[in-house]
Amino acid sequence: MRILVAEDDPITRRLLEAHLTRWEHEVIMCRDGTEAWNALMRDEAPRLAILDWMMPGMDGATICRKIRQKEQQHYIYIILLTARTQKEDLIEGLEAGADDYIAKPFDAHELRVRVRVGSRIIRLQEDLMAALAASEYQASHDVLTSLLNRKAIIEFLQRELARSHRDNTPVSLIMADLDHFKRVNDSYGHLAGDAVLKEVAHRLVTAVRPYDAIGRYGGEEFLIVCPNCDEESSWAIAERLRNLVSEAPLVTPEGSFKVTVSCGVSTVSGSGHNTDSITRAADQALYRAKELGRNRVELHRGELEG
Ligand SMILES: [Mg+2]
Repeated sequence: MRILVAEDDPITRRLLEAHLTRWEHEVIMCRDGTEAWNALMRDEAPRLAILDWMMPGMDGATICRKIRQKEQQHYIYIILLTARTQKEDLIEGLEAGADDYIAKPFDAHELRVRVRVGSRIIRLQEDLMAALAASEYQASHDVLTSLLNRKAIIEFLQRELARSHRDNTPVSLIMADLDHFKRVNDSYGHLAGDAVLKEVAHRLVTAVRPYDAIGRYGGEEFLIVCPNCDEESSWAIAERLRNLVSEAPLVTPEGSFKVTVSCGVSTVSGSGHNTDSITRAADQALYRAKELGRNRVELHRGELEG
């Protein structure tokens, strides 16, 4: 565990360092409060800190208070170290935001146990954060393709429409639908169908710009939201992804498949548009692409219906 130690007294400092190093912790030593504060504000700051209460620059309790006021991504577990052992001092220290408290002169065994408690809490918190991140990912991504799911891509579109309204910039929506996808499922089975969808998703990702978002809208239907992108540019993106899908057979563990895709594109700018109207417009353009023979891109023409 990486541990930050802030202590102005050289003897105590050396003792702390000796013990913690012997217990195989990596120790970052600070001689005063200011140094400790600066070290704790870095991105890769240690997650456990042992702070002397009385030291020059900034005292331990003040550092606690300031850390707890800040909105931090990672929790910093703080043990206050002090010669003040009155009950009121202890309460003050804990109220300042310390997690634990060790009286000086400290007992090595006690220090070891308290550091172990801190490490355990930090690990629990890390596990919790990882679980939270995983569940957030699952809630917004499609299991098969790892693209955004329907809800997440519509939310992205909604944010981009709001931005378009605010900044008066265009936003484009591409609706892409695999041609005759039912044939793949019917002839080769659903495993083959799934493999095709995964590979198509993979190709779509390489076709778009880094700030575009791709989601799986339905079975074999994908939505690509292109922020700050006019009709001409979005048409070019749609053409690029159409080519990428159809130019070479999709090689999957289930076999090699020749697949094409049709795209409908709708571009809006400014106010008065919502996710429904732009999606409907892209869908109408997609319908025309299908009518006109598939494996092609069509732009939505005319005004959007509210
Ligand atoms: Mg001191």
